Amino acid sequence: MQTHNLGYPRIGSNRELKKACEQYWSGNISLAELLSKGKSIYEQNWKLQQEAGIDLIPSNDFSYYDQILDMSLTVGAIPKRYNQVALKSNNEMDLYFAMARGYQKDGLDITAMEMTKWLDTNYHYIVPEFYKDQEFKLFSNKIVNEFAAAKQLGIKSKPVIIGPVSYLLLGKEKEEGFDKLDLVKRLLPVYIQILNELKAYGAEWVQFDEPFLALDINDKTREAYKYVYAEIRKQFPYLKILVATYFEGLKDNLALALSLPVNALHIDLVRCPEQLDEVLDAIPEQLILSLGIVDGRNIWKNDFEQSLAIVKKAIDKLGSDRILLAPSCSLLHSPCDLDLETNDQTLTPEIKEWLAFAKQKIDEVVVLKALSAESPDQNALAKLEYNKKAIANRSTSKLIHNGQIKQRVSSITTKDAQRENPFSIRKKAQQDILQLPLFPTTTIGSFPQTAEVRSWRARFKKGEISPAEYDSLLKKETEETIRWQEEIGIDVLVHGEFERNDMVEYFGEQLNGFSFTKNGWVQSYGSRCVKPPVIYGDVHRPAAMTVYWTAYAQSLTNSLVKGMLTGPVTILQWSFVRNDQPRSVTCNQIALAIRDEVTDLENAGIKIIQIDEPAIREGLPLRKADWQNYLQWAVNAFKISASGVKDETQIHTHMCYSEFNDIIQNIADMDADVITIECSRSQMELLDAFADFKYPNEIGPGVYDIHSPRVPSKEEMVRLLEKAKAVIPADQLWVNPDCGLKTRHWPETKSALIAMVAAAKELSANE
Ligand code: GLN
Ligand code: ZN
Repeated sequence: MQTHNLGYPRIGSNRELKKACEQYWSGNISLAELLSKGKSIYEQNWKLQQEAGIDLIPSNDFSYYDQILDMSLTVGAIPKRYNQVALKSNNEMDLYFAMARGYQKDGLDITAMEMTKWLDTNYHYIVPEFYKDQEFKLFSNKIVNEFAAAKQLGIKSKPVIIGPVSYLLLGKEKEEGFDKLDLVKRLLPVYIQILNELKAYGAEWVQFDEPFLALDINDKTREAYKYVYAEIRKQFPYLKILVATYFEGLKDNLALALSLPVNALHIDLVRCPEQLDEVLDAIPEQLILSLGIVDGRNIWKNDFEQSLAIVKKAIDKLGSDRILLAPSCSLLHSPCDLDLETNDQTLTPEIKEWLAFAKQKIDEVVVLKALSAESPDQNALAKLEYNKKAIANRSTSKLIHNGQIKQRVSSITTKDAQRENPFSIRKKAQQDILQLPLFPTTTIGSFPQTAEVRSWRARFKKGEISPAEYDSLLKKETEETIRWQEEIGIDVLVHGEFERNDMVEYFGEQLNGFSFTKNGWVQSYGSRCVKPPVIYGDVHRPAAMTVYWTAYAQSLTNSLVKGMLTGPVTILQWSFVRNDQPRSVTCNQIALAIRDEVTDLENAGIKIIQIDEPAIREGLPLRKADWQNYLQWAVNAFKISASGVKDETQIHTHMCYSEFNDIIQNIADMDADVITIECSRSQMELLDAFADFKYPNEIGPGVYDIHSPRVPSKEEMVRLLEKAKAVIPADQLWVNPDCGLKTRHWPETKSALIAMVAAAKELSANE
């Protein structure tokens, strides 16, 4: 039995790579300095895995920005618009970063390549661009260089390469008239060339990541898989090829995956433990099975006893020679090192005992191998005992379990997830109370979080300013924002969210059952990292969370102030979630906490309350067959949070970056009185899904893009609103920006909103 790893986090345990990249981009360090920082990170990662005792250590899992972009550069899939960058600069990294981030220098203004979510994670990759006359050629030697660098340290690494079929499927055809899968014949020779070089350097194992083998694919894709791996096998009869799948089970692709002429197949037994039996029943002789047994996507300590039962089952069937042990997927999605969490206040010692980050997960894999031996050594057995204690402590800890909350969740009824009356009746009740004009204007919640506002929070956290001082600074900022909104005539005001660091963290900090790390960073894209909260226990709201600021804002004005909350699905989606109960149960606990907040706001006299759910779509399972089940509980959780109020209280929700066509029925089922969506970049096209569906409730299609400082003209917004009005009845339409304004500056925010209000007035005057 051998251990291996599918990939190690590359940001560095103190985000060294982020810092070095950003310094390089701003011209503060040289390319040589950046490259040496990168090298020290991947060398450290290799040594750490070597010292831990991992048998097959990955290389080419490092990346300065993104591993899929690395592959595009490697195979020369470089869109033509970057030719000029290549001419201006003779270093490969400038071209690489231009593809990642765009290039505005030396009189050039070239857009970046598109970025999108990596399967169902919060990591974003750079989408390969394919053209009809697409050619591939070996352009970058990164894969071989890293293999050689590891070899110099005495490590015969296992290069990790995105497989040819998945690479093509991850890309996008940028013109019509061809199918990206047909490019496989042109692409494969470059892969062959890379393998030839690796072979010449002495590579023994190569890992091809083929996540699409665990997704819904068509027959053409299946044929492509057969073709690719048969060709590779033909050319390299002795190279050991491992095909890695993750995030889902093989399911209907099981026979295909098992028929590929490769040496080893990796399966994700954390996401889909039930596939083990099927695989063991059907696995052909000779094929080695890699058991993805340590969760690469979450932060919980592995349950050794449970894992050992799985390993044993596999050994009984295959013999230990045909087994590889590994994390379920690349550890890219785990924070680096739990040992760095030394602050007892943020992460108490008891909770810390339940966790494992990347470095600890590597150790877990190694210990599991030791424990799988016929007579494990004392050291391993001691670790098993220790592990059993931690697991037992977690399953019974008072910190986690709250009988009252469990009771409350299990007695949720259908009625709890339903407003008292249907929308048609609520609409009238709300109109009577709210007295809003046609085309009412509002914003999505946040106003600019200036450097000043952020510095108050930083100083407050360090104890440099008192709570009273912090409070009065925020009050002043809130009051100015309220006054300004009144002045320009916005109909539904917001308080501005100045007291919030982040839309999930702010709530997590006030809810029981949440914990935070100091250094638990995970790469989101490029140099951007996120630090998700840890939901470790039953969630419960000890006190109101937003009433203070919302009521304060409302006390300043006779206009309507909208309360602002983050929805249960989004809080769940952007956290590390406990694995000892279904996600749906955790989500319902959060939903009840938000529901209580909603009723508290109502009791405080707030008549409009927004519950943001930007992450509802990204929670969709990878396999379509699982969509309805997810949507059922996710939509229900939202409704639980929203349904504790009277008919006349108006509930808004907000979603961004979404396509709605395939889930429009579920969005309608959420039954929010008003939904605001991002729309301007698609020129209102996203609205078609609502129009075709005859969406009955009210909609605020975003009329300007808040991601850029550009100020749209009134005419432009009138044109967009006219377009909206052509497909949605006027009395259903709201006028608002695409999303929150917290990343914007005040000058452009003011000009844009003044123009937006004018656009709405013009439309209602024409009615
Ligand atoms: N209310 C939040 C804000 O305005 C919504 C953010 C979001 O949709 N991501 O910042
Ligand atoms: Zn948004």
